[in-house]
Amino acid sequence: MTKLIYEKSTPGRRAVLLPASGVFEKPLTDLLPEKFVRKAAPALPEVSELEAVRHFVNLSRLNHSIDTGFYPLGSCTMKYNPKVNDAMASLEGFRELHPYQPEEQVQGALEVIHTLQELIGEITGLPAVSLQAAAGAQGELLGLMLIKAYFQSKGEHEKRRKVIVPDTAHGTNPASAAMAGYEVVEIGSSSRGLVDLDALKAALGPDTAAIMLTNPSTLGLFEEEILSVQKLVHEAGGLLYYDGANLNAIMGLVRPGDMGFDVCHLNLHKSFSTPHGGGGPGGCAVACRPHLEPFLPVPHVTKKENRYTLDWDRPQSVGKVKGFYGNFGILVRALTYILAHGREGLTQVSRDAILSANYLKEHLKVAYKLPYQQPCMHEFVLSGVWQKERGCGTTVIAKRMLDYGVHSPTVYFPLVVPEAMMIEPTETESLQTLDEFLEIMMRIDRETKENPDIVRNAPHKTPVGRLDEALAARKPNLRWKPL
Ligand SMILES: *Cc1c(COP(=O)(O)O)cnc(C)c1O
Repeated sequence: MTKLIYEKSTPGRRAVLLPASGVFEKPLTDLLPEKFVRKAAPALPEVSELEAVRHFVNLSRLNHSIDTGFYPLGSCTMKYNPKVNDAMASLEGFRELHPYQPEEQVQGALEVIHTLQELIGEITGLPAVSLQAAAGAQGELLGLMLIKAYFQSKGEHEKRRKVIVPDTAHGTNPASAAMAGYEVVEIGSSSRGLVDLDALKAALGPDTAAIMLTNPSTLGLFEEEILSVQKLVHEAGGLLYYDGANLNAIMGLVRPGDMGFDVCHLNLHKSFSTPHGGGGPGGCAVACRPHLEPFLPVPHVTKKENRYTLDWDRPQSVGKVKGFYGNFGILVRALTYILAHGREGLTQVSRDAILSANYLKEHLKVAYKLPYQQPCMHEFVLSGVWQKERGCGTTVIAKRMLDYGVHSPTVYFPLVVPEAMMIEPTETESLQTLDEFLEIMMRIDRETKENPDIVRNAPHKTPVGRLDEALAARKPNLRWKPL
């Protein structure tokens, strides 16, 4: 077991010794009010610089990351994040900016935001864009706030209180609708895993504010009846929200705006390749039709006579949803990604993502149950029910994958598939990596027949083995005490 850095501490050992300060005549502690002065030195670990470096580098090597191994975590788009994005975001002119600098000093940064807004407008077919939200779920909330503000402005909010969400939607969709104060109406899906039009018709009415559609759905399936869905919802006077978090499934191929949607969000930290997985920072674009534009957050970056300005004068705006103008470094990375790929490149991204997923799906369906047979988009969902009959359900298959050095897929989601394994290879993996993964999955399936115990007791090679997950969640032991 790795020692904590406190356990490596040796009294008196130091990394960097600073010379005495020449600025103050008295010790700094004499200048502070008595009650703020420490009575005892803080209990910090005492280690040399080399010990500190080794400690943290070794810890970092215990992590699985996209830079160290295959990471097919469905719906999360764990693809390669080109290092040039980071190089651009750390250019001095961007890095040294202060968010309160006057507009005339930050024209370049405002141009970055404005250019990205325009490009996202092109990519989605929805011309009015805000980049303020910091995560997909926050973008969903903002989108619903726009819808609510729109109906309020028309005096219809009181009667339109329901948001329809199919059971194949991402879990954040119903949560965001509830956060925005709406009543969530769940509708089931057809035998092919698509929106059930009869269920939709039955749910629609004069009380419908919107439908939130994840497309492709969490089954990785494109909604074939999307134009009928659009027509039905608009005829009922509702609006359509498109969850485009996983835009690498459709980018350059189809656009939410052309499908008739009113508002959508894109996760910049998925399709547009900014790093994620450690909880942020993220970035989100919310794009909408002109009738929702007046409600977008302030300040909105606009261009007037070749100057970029922060427009606060938007009386119908829903206000601010985040400090300043969004996560600027993420916006620089996303713009770099889009410009580096260009129109053809972005389309190729989607084609490759779809091809990789279908390649894996077609090979794996002989060993793992595939509940929905039609071609998938950027991901697909298998069911571990055959392996479960041999006493090796999805939980242990996922843990066994760790022994072979790959990250597990998203498991037990979506809920409509028992023993679900949601696999998203992404477009950045080579054919060799995909083949290695197939080999691992086939080997694990053989193990469930020939040596099920090795699967049941996995993982065997990770730094930490089986944890009592319930105990860890209910009674987390987070405090280190000296031995
Ligand atoms: C990831 C994801 C979200 C949520 O995005 P966060 O940035 O994690 O809040 C929403 N919808 C879909 C389809 C997603 O894949």
